Amino acid sequence: MSVTRVVLLGPPGSGKGTQAVGLALSLGVPTISTGAIFRANLSSGTALGVEAQKYMSAGELVPDSVTDAMVRSRLAEPDAAGGWVLDGYPRNLAQVSALDALLAESGLAVEVALELTVPEEAIVSRLAKRASIEGREDDTESVIRHRIAVYEEQTAPIASVYRSRGLLRSVDALGSVEEVGVRLLAAARGDGCGCSCGG
Ligand code: AMP
Repeated sequence: MSVTRVVLLGPPGSGKGTQAVGLALSLGVPTISTGAIFRANLSSGTALGVEAQKYMSAGELVPDSVTDAMVRSRLAEPDAAGGWVLDGYPRNLAQVSALDALLAESGLAVEVALELTVPEEAIVSRLAKRASIEGREDDTESVIRHRIAVYEEQTAPIASVYRSRGLLRSVDALGSVEEVGVRLLAAARGDGCGCSCGG
């Protein structure tokens, strides 16, 4: 049976957002990207967007209370009933617990956590390229550095939690979008995949 409740992990610049969309399409579930939801709120000028922007522009995490509530309401939408690919959430250990508790209310749980791995040099050059293409406000060099530090400190540890549950599969994120997409889908399905999941 195909997995439908997937958490996608990976540092800024690992191609996570792009891969989340492709993977969700292949699995037939929506992508739920907290960063994208915050950016959409920001461009439409909602109170949530204004609040989130203070943190986003500095490369800090938006407070858990705000983010967890937003995810709760997004996961309650009808299209999320059959599963999802979560991109950018959970982002720290407290969010892992909040997600566990939220899913447990419906007798559900994360089925697999996929981690995109990429060497640090590649991260910086990918982000610099994205900055020139998308013009994201949080893609300036100092904010990029800070986001990488926040990732290492707060987000990287959550991989260990999923690993200890036997749910983590790591996927090499170097290569073309298509190549990485194939690896990721194989890892999600648990096929003999050449990643480090033992598949
Ligand atoms: P991303 O598009 O995932 O790189 O997220 C962009 C920014 O949105 C992050 O640097 C944070 O400021 C904020 N953000 C996204 N997801 C979360 C989250 N799960 N918790 C807190 N802040 C988040």
